[in-house]
Amino acid sequence: MDQEIIDGHPGRYWHRLDDGRLQCDVCPRYCKLHDGQRGLCFVRARADDRIVLTTYGRSSGFCIDPIEKKPLNHFLPGTPVLSFGTAGCNLTCKFCQNWDISKARALDRVQDRASPEAIAQAALASGCRSVAFTYNDPVIFLEYAIDVAQACRAHGIMTVAVSAGYIAPEPRREFFRHMDAANIDLKGFTEDFYKNLCSGKLAAVLDTLAYLKHETEVWFEITTLLIPGENDSPAEAEALSRWVMEHLGADVPLHFTAFHPDWKMLDTPPTPPATLRTARRIGKEAGLRYVYTGNIHDPGGQSTYCHACDARLIGRDWYDLHDWTLTPDGRCRACGEACAGVFDGAPGRWGRRRQAVRVPALA
Ligand code: SF4
Repeated sequence: MDQEIIDGHPGRYWHRLDDGRLQCDVCPRYCKLHDGQRGLCFVRARADDRIVLTTYGRSSGFCIDPIEKKPLNHFLPGTPVLSFGTAGCNLTCKFCQNWDISKARALDRVQDRASPEAIAQAALASGCRSVAFTYNDPVIFLEYAIDVAQACRAHGIMTVAVSAGYIAPEPRREFFRHMDAANIDLKGFTEDFYKNLCSGKLAAVLDTLAYLKHETEVWFEITTLLIPGENDSPAEAEALSRWVMEHLGADVPLHFTAFHPDWKMLDTPPTPPATLRTARRIGKEAGLRYVYTGNIHDPGGQSTYCHACDARLIGRDWYDLHDWTLTPDGRCRACGEACAGVFDGAPGRWGRRRQAVRVPALA
């Protein structure tokens, strides 16, 4: 058995099957493992009589990003967020935009080692209001993400999960209890898309979105990458927007973002800006109050407007904020209507910078 598995951190959410295999119950794949075998995500594995996480305390590096890059447009706008990921993923998206991390097999991609406390201290020292689990899906390293979240909250640092929401109901309850905000990737709006391009199930993701809305206080936004010829039809944008409106309500922000050829879809062209603008219009026509375009230069489509009087509340040019007409508690200065989200006084001034950070190594 390989040493990484032998040295793995005890994992939660699994049980023994009658045939002797151990079933991982973290995500809807429910991998059934023989001794020494890894799950589809690669980072959870069976070591003798237990399931372990092989990436606890290991990361692919730390960066300070603008919070808008997650993307979160209604959560402490303008502030810096200490961001990191590990390796592996529990979906197999052919269009993955972070495949060097998510598909990492040799764990030399995750050489940086950092304890939860060291990460919280690094966030404090660098003036970050939050820490984000991003670059790959934190669902698969939930034991580490939860420990980091607890250390952060003890120091008043908030936590952000960037996830595809592909998680089973029981771990979902524990995982999101420790998160303050999330961006959930809703990859398409047909079961065929999830099956053929991600080997996953749409219904499980919709279940997570409804759970977040109706059973938690987590602030969340949704991102859908529009891929030419795959999920970019006006009919699909309309069906998705209508579902969000009906099941989650008008206040959940929706980001339609541009695909760039990557991983196994190098022959698919980038998303035309017109497709994103059309999807944004469709989302707004469905009644959604905050619909954005992303990954293109579109200041109009990336700014936030008052849903009541249409005043521009937050002007954005990429990740730079250039207008701010919100009161400290998040109301429109023109008409007094509340803007949905988490606002705390003046906007941050981080801008579009991206800065690598060294977090002291694990002892
Ligand atoms: S988290 Fe990993 S090991 Fe567990 S069920 Fe999902 S893919 Fe399989």
